[in-house]
Amino acid sequence: MKTIAVLGGGPAGASAAERLARAGLKTIILDEKLAWEKPCGGGITYKAYSQYPYLIENDTPKKLVTDTLLAAPKSGEFKMALHRPLVIYSRLDLNGMLLRRAEAAGAEIEKERVLGLERNGDGWRIRTRTGRIDADYCVIATGARNPLREVGTQYTAQDTMYALGYWVPSDQAHIDIQFLPNLEGYIWVFPRAGHLSVGICGKSESAQCLRTRLERYMDEKGLCRKQAKFYGHMLPALESRGWRNNRLAGEGWIAVGDAGGMVDPITGEGLYYAVRSGDLASQVVLSEEPAEKAERYRQMISRDFGMDLTYGAGLAKRLFCGAIFFGAVPSRMIDFMKRSPKFCEIMQDLFAGTQPYLELKNRLLRNVNTTLHEILMSFLFRKLILSETRS
Ligand SMILES: Cc1cc2nc3c(=O)[nH]c(=O)nc-3n(C[C@H](O)[C@H](O)[C@H](O)COP(=O)(O)OP(=O)(O)OC[C@H]3O[C@@H](n4cnc5c(N)ncnc54)[C@H](O)[C@@H]3O)c2cc1C
Repeated sequence: MKTIAVLGGGPAGASAAERLARAGLKTIILDEKLAWEKPCGGGITYKAYSQYPYLIENDTPKKLVTDTLLAAPKSGEFKMALHRPLVIYSRLDLNGMLLRRAEAAGAEIEKERVLGLERNGDGWRIRTRTGRIDADYCVIATGARNPLREVGTQYTAQDTMYALGYWVPSDQAHIDIQFLPNLEGYIWVFPRAGHLSVGICGKSESAQCLRTRLERYMDEKGLCRKQAKFYGHMLPALESRGWRNNRLAGEGWIAVGDAGGMVDPITGEGLYYAVRSGDLASQVVLSEEPAEKAERYRQMISRDFGMDLTYGAGLAKRLFCGAIFFGAVPSRMIDFMKRSPKFCEIMQDLFAGTQPYLELKNRLLRNVNTTLHEILMSFLFRKLILSETRS
């Protein structure tokens, strides 16, 4: 029987391993830490848990949050009740749950650090800290800091961003999203079972600058850092060019999750793409002829979400740092949400992950008349109320 080595046991590796093992392949996960509190918000969208219901239907501690407070400079705040909640996990809990599923499906799990990969006939010899393991095929799931240079995405500085924050021992009922001036990124506060994940991500800005911005925000909001633990990690954010040249698969290997750069360049959502790419990779490993696996996987990823994220990569800078109607786009977005239910619906779908970027422009154009009408009516109504109160 063929042996598949899954290098990395995060959401991408565990998901691929579960499916491969269930199909009867000898599958070994090698992870240096196994379940751990990976720096992450831990938020899972409706798109993810509606497609993979086990992400919500389980006994693992989690929070389902609907209340969301969006804020941007000069536009104040807007409170939105999400129609479809965000499910928020501690990564220790989420990773543990996914690894247990892989194990129950028959995957072997070893706590091992992978040091290198060498060709061994048609297969691989994997060097680990304690010895060597031979495998016929490798699934590369070692995350954004993949140490294996010859496989997986080759990141350039433009294709990544920093994401850092604090786990704060506190509680709140709602999600906060704060946009900041000239930042291609945002601050989030995600309530989790037992603590808050407070973080910031941003492109083209140093970790120190991001940390300063975040700490200023936390001080303003009274989020105490005294007993909070700091975290930081790299977040893939491929530019359009990065997507086009992405090294997703090769002879005898296939990359999943962050090791393949599969993160939404606008929202930073990576958990869905980790699970989804693990699923698609396992389908390819199970069904295709060896010579066709790599090309077939590239096509599947491109069709499934790659084209959409490539398009999203082109939008990201304009969305966070662009201007519209004499104001910054994030501030105008909040102004529009305050005044137009139609515009709110679009934002609801973006939050749920069900609005593809490729169709966003057309949907905005289709709705432009209603949106503008609603904004105008809300503006006139406000004026009327104000003049009534004055008189
Ligand atoms: C601060 C931050 C906040 C985020 N918030 C969100 C969010 O709210 N929602 C969302 O959807 N996404 C979020 N993301 C993205 C998300 O965390 C990733 O996309 C997701 O973890 C990718 O899963 P993965 O399995 O590909 O990689 P990882 O989760 O990074 O797993 C990789 C695994 O490989 C192992 N490994 C690495 N090297 C070796 C080696 N040499 N030998 C053995 N094992 C190895 C590691 O121990 C790890 O377990 C966030 C990311 C960051 C950095």
